[in-house]
Amino acid sequence: MKKFTILLAFMSVSALATAQATKSNGNFDGYFENKTMRIDYIHGGNSSTESFKIFGIKNDGLWGGRVKVMNDPYNLGLYAFDIVDAASGKVLYTQGFCSVFGEWQTTIEAGEINKDFEESIRFPWPKNIFKLVMRKRDSTNTFQTIWTETVNPALYAKAEHSSPPAQVRYFMKNGNPKYKVDIVVLADGYAVADSTVFSNDVQQFIDAFFSVEPFKGRKADFNVAAVYSTSPVSGIRLQKPNYYPANILGCSYYTFGTERYVLTEREWTVRDYASAVPYDFLVILLNSDKYGGGGIYNLYITASAKSVSSGYVMVHEMGHHIAGLADEYYTSDVAYQISMPKYEPWEFNITALLKPENLKWKSMVDPTTPIPTPWQKEKYEQNEALNLADEVYSNKVGAFEGAGYLSKGLYRPEIDCIMFSNSLKFCRVCRKGLNRVLDMYISR
Ligand SMILES: [Zn+2]
Repeated sequence: MKKFTILLAFMSVSALATAQATKSNGNFDGYFENKTMRIDYIHGGNSSTESFKIFGIKNDGLWGGRVKVMNDPYNLGLYAFDIVDAASGKVLYTQGFCSVFGEWQTTIEAGEINKDFEESIRFPWPKNIFKLVMRKRDSTNTFQTIWTETVNPALYAKAEHSSPPAQVRYFMKNGNPKYKVDIVVLADGYAVADSTVFSNDVQQFIDAFFSVEPFKGRKADFNVAAVYSTSPVSGIRLQKPNYYPANILGCSYYTFGTERYVLTEREWTVRDYASAVPYDFLVILLNSDKYGGGGIYNLYITASAKSVSSGYVMVHEMGHHIAGLADEYYTSDVAYQISMPKYEPWEFNITALLKPENLKWKSMVDPTTPIPTPWQKEKYEQNEALNLADEVYSNKVGAFEGAGYLSKGLYRPEIDCIMFSNSLKFCRVCRKGLNRVLDMYISR
């Protein structure tokens, strides 16, 4: 009888623990070790097919990511992966993201050739055998599973972490990386002699980033570290005609044929350098005076450190990178082939307004503001210098037509925003989206 009582007591404690784990969406220590697993894989294909193949499984250093909210509830990104406990089927960790392959797939070239891209996912190191489940949105914007692998972490238990030799310096340290938002800043195109220049450029990034809300008001939530990843010579590929320096991270202008768009196809090298510190978000500063940059949700941003618009580019790209915010502008050329949306976009800050009564930021709209919201759109399209602050609904959240590279059929929440123009201010819907994401990384 006594034995039975002990068993019952044990069961109830165990049931309680399970209930708490489900409720808190966490139990980090129960399922994970305090280090990062990185899976490098090849993501290849063309405009209509894609495939994945694991290239390597690494120890990517101490874990600095989410420990409280393990399953990202916001469903952002073109792709998402799940780490599923193989024995119980319990989803232990999820993360949405976008990728260079995903963008390339919408270019004309992807209709003509097959191409492979380096890609990585990072997550806390599971203690037990797990299933990796990769999901992608289909043509109706619904996630479908497109790849699964079962991995036994015991086979990699002895893997030591190492990153390429480089000086590391913390510019801001406000607490344990597990409970803070950690930004790592890498250098591309900075030679050894440019070390002081890089230090000044990192400070310039910090000053620009923390001058804008919501980052300004929550500076104490962040750590910022810089990794001095030096290049043999100064400069970035194609910052001037026929210029191809051997910049260490491989960043280049003219990505997908767009002059100002700077990305790299050497993601694994970038990740190797970044792993010198625990990080959540990754910034690559470009030693270049040519306007340009890029930002991809949960991958990285690049930003020219020395053009007249550097501060604006850095903050705008962080909007893409941190919260997957869409571009709200629609009058500049881009490389993507865009068609009229038949389904609601997943981004926080644009809508197809298919059901105006269900507008996703409805709670922020004043009942007296018409939806769609009138503005002098034709006049703006003739002259972008139109003073948006003089518009009738300039201070209101509404649904303003013209967003996401489309003049018609997509709407943005406010007349102006740093995702729309170089205004150095996020609209209220973008600020709310950014705060929601950042909150997931913070434990106080
Ligand atoms: Zn916005």
